[in-house]
Amino acid sequence: MAKATHVLVVEDEAALADLLKYNLEKEGYRVSVANDGDEALLSANESVPDLVVLDWMLPKAPGIEVCRRLRARQETRNTPIVMLTARTEEGDRIRGLDIGADDYITKPFSMIELLARLRAVMRRIRPALADDTISAGDILMDRVSHRVKRGGREVHLGPTEFRILDHLMQHPGRVFSREQLLDAVWGSDVYVEARTVDVHIGRLRKALMVGDEGDPIRTVRSAGYALDVEAA
Ligand code: CA
Repeated sequence: MAKATHVLVVEDEAALADLLKYNLEKEGYRVSVANDGDEALLSANESVPDLVVLDWMLPKAPGIEVCRRLRARQETRNTPIVMLTARTEEGDRIRGLDIGADDYITKPFSMIELLARLRAVMRRIRPALADDTISAGDILMDRVSHRVKRGGREVHLGPTEFRILDHLMQHPGRVFSREQLLDAVWGSDVYVEARTVDVHIGRLRKALMVGDEGDPIRTVRSAGYALDVEAA
C-alpha cells in the first residue's frame, strides 16, 4: 500500500475539526487533529505531516504564529499549509501568504471546495505525493505495487532503497544531505550513522544501472545526493 498522505488539522471548534477529520479520512488521508497552536506544534514535532490545515483564530499560539514556527523548522519548512479563516480582509490574506501559507480558504466553505483546494495544493507543491505512480526520466515507480522500472526493465529494490528513491523522485534535481535523507527515510527519532546512507545509495545505484545505463544519482561532494532527471 502507498503511504497515506498525513494531514494535520489545527482547529479549535470541535464540530468543524470532526467534520474535517471525517471528510479527509473518507478521501484516504491519514488525519491528526490539534485543538490549539501549542498542540499543533507538538504534534508536528512527533509526526511530520505532509499537509497542514490551519485555522487562523486559535487559542494559545494563533494560526499565523503556528505557521511562522512551522516554517522556521527544517522538517516542516516545505510542508504545504492551507489556512482557514473567518476574516475576509485582503490585508490578512496577504499577511498569511507572506508568512508562508500556501493557500487560504475563507469560512464558511464547502467540504467539496476544501478538498479540491487541498488536492490542488498537493499537486502544485509536491506533484509526486498526489499520485500512486511517479516518474523521473526513464524511471517509473508504482507506489501501490512497490514496483520500479527503468526503461521498461524491472528494478528490484530493498525497502530502504525504495524509500530513498521515492524521496529523491519527489524532488528531482534537489540535493539532499545524508542527514536530510536519514530524517526523510528512517525518521528523525532513529539513530543511524550517516555512512549507512552511502551504503544504501550504493545498492540503489547498482540496482538502477545495468549494462551501460547512466548513473541517475549525482553525488555532490560534502553536500549529499540528488536525482538527475536529465541523466535518468
Ligand atoms: Ca478557531
